[in-house]
Amino acid sequence: MSLNGLRVKVVGAGIGGLAAALALRARGAEVTVLEQAPELSEVGAGLQISPNGVAVLRVLGLEPALAQEAVRGRAVVLRDHAGGDAVLRLDLARHAPDLAYYFVHRADLIDLLTQAAREADIGLRLLQRVAAVEPGAEDADRAVLRMASGAEIAADLVIGADGLHSRARAVLNGADDPFFTGQVAWRAVVPNVIGLGPEAQVFMGPGRHLVCYPLRRGDLVNIVAVQERREWAAEGWHHADDPDNLRAAFADFGGDARRLLAQVDEVNLWGLFRHPVADCWQRGRLAILGDAAHPTLPFMAQGANMALEDAWVLADCLERGADLGAALAAYQARRRPRVARVIAAANGNAWKYHLRPGPVRGLAHLALRLGGSLAPG
Ligand code: FAD
Repeated sequence: MSLNGLRVKVVGAGIGGLAAALALRARGAEVTVLEQAPELSEVGAGLQISPNGVAVLRVLGLEPALAQEAVRGRAVVLRDHAGGDAVLRLDLARHAPDLAYYFVHRADLIDLLTQAAREADIGLRLLQRVAAVEPGAEDADRAVLRMASGAEIAADLVIGADGLHSRARAVLNGADDPFFTGQVAWRAVVPNVIGLGPEAQVFMGPGRHLVCYPLRRGDLVNIVAVQERREWAAEGWHHADDPDNLRAAFADFGGDARRLLAQVDEVNLWGLFRHPVADCWQRGRLAILGDAAHPTLPFMAQGANMALEDAWVLADCLERGADLGAALAAYQARRRPRVARVIAAANGNAWKYHLRPGPVRGLAHLALRLGGSLAPG
């Protein structure tokens, strides 16, 4: 169907919402993004953009800008936590020389998408909190967004890209029912005091692992450190913790891991929760994407990459679909099985990194060597 003049409102200016806005605008839609935050700046954190995500940024015309800001990854190396001995090295450049894999600061990716959106004449409206979504029926002439301010906004199509606590998801699926996985993660960004080259390092210890990779031309290192524990921690990216808690939890990690941990002076802690993949991704004139449809554990580093894929496939389905209903149904059919597979792999990954020394650990490391999933986030 023609998207020319289709009035699309995207709820949420995260990576998924901005990418969807760009993909739809490129096909002629009139797109406005409504974001609740007062500004589109992000706290420091890294993201791994794997070739599937890069492919989307490439067709959006953004790979050259991404390459300028990001570090192009050459390898992923799994190491023992104590001495740092390598268990497995996956040479990204050798196995897939044509496919780029980037380590990027989240703020840089958001900046790049935002700038492209402004250049494409996409409306970006801040301080716009959506309180309720009425999807409308496909044969109704519009969907309606009720804003926290009391205003009403009509649209031909609403895209719920409103993240982890999505209102749009709840409209389609009812209340979410996540559970605490018994794992928490700290994340921090520190100066690159270990001279880390263009590779991700994963230090694996009993009940814990620590991932690090370079950011911003290698000046900084992103750290994500995961621990199994009973004590619950809140879900979300903005809960500050004492760096000494992180150091105490990883006190037996040696070498480069220890040197990086010594640099941490600000750290966030979040509880890792498992959410089911939404059963229903669309109805009437509403579709959801990204974390709104499928929040994931970080053990495949695919949250942002899946959001980018969703954005592209949604626009493609709308362009190819005979009508809105067929297009949105095709979108869900193309995306849900793949996302469910990726998330199942992420769910299954942590135990491989957390084993205590012994035969099971040996077998798990062998499984990793034989092609087990990599790239924990
Ligand atoms: P999000 O990036 O969560 O974007 C959703 C947007 O919707 C937000 O801007 C939010 O303010 C807005 N919004 C929500 N509700 C409303 C509403 N009612 N009205 C209007 N706007 C609304 N993944 C990693 O792998 N590593 C990381 O270090 C990492 N850091 C992160 C840091 C932050 C602050 C966040 C939010 C996410 C982070 N993630 C990280 C997750 C990863 O970025 C996501 O999996 C991926 O980006 C999905 O993006 P999204 O666009 O679906 O959702």
